[in-house]
Amino acid sequence: MSKEQNHTPKADILAIDDTPENLALLSQMLTEKGYKVRSVTKGSTALRGAKAAPPDLILLDVKMPEMNGYEVCQELKADDRTRNIPVIFISALGDVFDKVKAFQAGGVDYITKPFQVEEVLARLDTHLTIRNLQLQLEAQNRQLQQEIAEKTAAEDKFAKVFRACPNPIAIATCQEGRFVEVNNSFLQMSGYLEAEVIGKNINQIYSLSASEIYYQALQKSQSQGFVRNQELEFQTKSGQIKTVLLSLELIELGGTKCTLQILNDITERKRLENEFISLVSHELRTPMSSTIGALDLLNSGQLGTLSDRGKQILQVAIRNTERLIRLVNDILDLERMKSGKIALQPVKCDLEPLLLQATETMQAMAEKAQVQLQLEADAIEIKVDPDRLLQTLTNLLSNGIKFTEPGGTVKLKAEIDGDRCHITLRDTGRGIPPDKLQSIFERFQQVDASDSRSKGGTGLGLAICRHIVERHNGKIWVESVLGKGSIFHIDLPLMAEE
Ligand code: ADP
Repeated sequence: MSKEQNHTPKADILAIDDTPENLALLSQMLTEKGYKVRSVTKGSTALRGAKAAPPDLILLDVKMPEMNGYEVCQELKADDRTRNIPVIFISALGDVFDKVKAFQAGGVDYITKPFQVEEVLARLDTHLTIRNLQLQLEAQNRQLQQEIAEKTAAEDKFAKVFRACPNPIAIATCQEGRFVEVNNSFLQMSGYLEAEVIGKNINQIYSLSASEIYYQALQKSQSQGFVRNQELEFQTKSGQIKTVLLSLELIELGGTKCTLQILNDITERKRLENEFISLVSHELRTPMSSTIGALDLLNSGQLGTLSDRGKQILQVAIRNTERLIRLVNDILDLERMKSGKIALQPVKCDLEPLLLQATETMQAMAEKAQVQLQLEADAIEIKVDPDRLLQTLTNLLSNGIKFTEPGGTVKLKAEIDGDRCHITLRDTGRGIPPDKLQSIFERFQQVDASDSRSKGGTGLGLAICRHIVERHNGKIWVESVLGKGSIFHIDLPLMAEE
């Protein structure tokens, strides 16, 4: 066995010639060059062989008894299994060889006998290369077709979801913030027509505060890929305010980076939630007042003397009832403020005595907690509702004291900043984790679920503070370092109009 025969053959060649000597010569020549050669003397046998195991290339003699080369070639081209196999015709120099007929029958080339080895090899090589390239191209084409089909199917699916989704969805370009697509639910929720939204800028459809939240969400999603459920107020075309949760994802549409904004209109849910909470609170108030009255009566001793254990239990009942009453009162207070049932009564006043009053009110609590209260204030004249500001400051001071270990300090400071007043409340307490810095200003939001129980709070203090400050056209926010302390900031206009 020669060395070349051990290797994988370069290609599988089917040689068809009715002259055995010719075949033997051809076969020897090609085998030596590393091809696998199948030799056949009859057209019909060749056709069977080619269909059973299609070769890479066929060398086909023109002049044969029974079936001539043209006929064999025509049959090969008529069958799917053999159609694409390149056929090279072989004709003797003296034969009547019709080149046009050969090409019409589907041949790719022809060689005349007696052949020159180099010529045969060169032609073979060329057509095998062409065939290989063709196969590669076909494979690439198939893959491309498949990718296109998959992409089209995915786009179809997306389009269906986009159209049918009950949530309002909008797509806008990242760079210019221009709306490119909105679904029907978006149009229904916003009250706009499609033509009034497409091509418009984000801040032409979203209010100023909503646009701010949108751009913050965009920034966040650029670093973390998506943003979920950012609450914002959406103003509809008719001016109605809706509470909406915005989820934002980055997508590519026709090569342009876009934001996919999925909205969730929670206006009704919020209304029902508020209604439920205030209803329950109203209903609770009367029985709670009568309970505390009864407990006070028991505590006064007018109904007889209780045992020490009885007194202890009574104190627990009084403490918890008082807490419940505080909670109910806070809920109702917040609800009345939100619904505008309580009007602010701003008057011009000196801030310093107000701050002093707040710290004096909290002094006893601070001493009990062994926390030092400090006050530093400029002489500031400010137009505020003094009772409400006092409520805000005592709330913040109380939190500062509650969340600071004995030996720590809570410092209240006020200074003028242009036409505004900047109040800070700095404590050396346990601090607030970064992901809670905003949420603690929402109703019932606490850093730790046990805070209200362990520290006696209601989870409403900061929500009330925020409401009071915002009603004064001010801002409240917090900075904090875990384990080191927190700074609550209040920024108020000196002469606020409600
Ligand atoms: P609460 O009645 O529970 O104090 P607030 O609305 O006043 O309700 O505060 C909400 C939550 O914010 C608190 O339960 C606590 O987890 C956190 N918090 C508020 N102030 C501070 C502070 N100064 N230091 C650490 N955590 C605080």
